[in-house]
Amino acid sequence: MQQEVEALLALQVDDLKIREIEAQIHALAPQLAEFDKRRDQVLATLAREEIAVAAEEKKRAELQARLAQHKQMQERNLHQLDDVKRMREATAATAQVESTRRLMAEDESEIAILGRRITEMNAAVAKSKQTLATVDEEQKAARPEIEARKAELEAELDAARRDRNGRAGAVSRPMLGKYDRIRGKRTRALYPLRGGSCGNCDTSIPLQRRNVMSGSGDIEVCEACGVLLYAEEGGA
Ligand SMILES: [Zn+2]
Repeated sequence: MQQEVEALLALQVDDLKIREIEAQIHALAPQLAEFDKRRDQVLATLAREEIAVAAEEKKRAELQARLAQHKQMQERNLHQLDDVKRMREATAATAQVESTRRLMAEDESEIAILGRRITEMNAAVAKSKQTLATVDEEQKAARPEIEARKAELEAELDAARRDRNGRAGAVSRPMLGKYDRIRGKRTRALYPLRGGSCGNCDTSIPLQRRNVMSGSGDIEVCEACGVLLYAEEGGA
């Protein structure tokens, strides 16, 4: 077998190995992305819930301040009611007491409703925090494993590329260019003749060309599928 065929075959072994490692690295990416996505979702939910709780708590504080004001007002009303002697003034003072009592009842009812809502919302916040802790716990174990596997594969890839580049020097520039062009479009660029046909597409190669190839060790392009063809020693 001619030197160039051997050199190209060795290069092809390297290239297939490089592609395999790249595919493995590529397959890890979605797992890591999925981890990030899951965690971000939980964090976003938690942030939303906490903002909502804070808004309701602010509303409740405002209501409590209003209730306190109404209570003060009622104290004054009750004093006034004690003080008044004449009937008409007493009626007005009683009405004032009644009206403030209604306001206070409304305040208290709103505060109670808000209190129940805040309790429910805080339960949701606690649940989201629990989910986040669970997600972190799961990822704490799995993530470094994947990161380590990725680093390992990247080191393998670097080594394989260095090997490949070292071997590429053994192939003539024009042939290397041809090989790389064909390889860009398919997994494998170089095939042996098989029973007088292209080892990739099975198109039969004229006897005369086959004889030239096996005699000289020339590498030819299959006219049907475009791959590089070589004659195996003692074969074709
Ligand atoms: Zn072919």
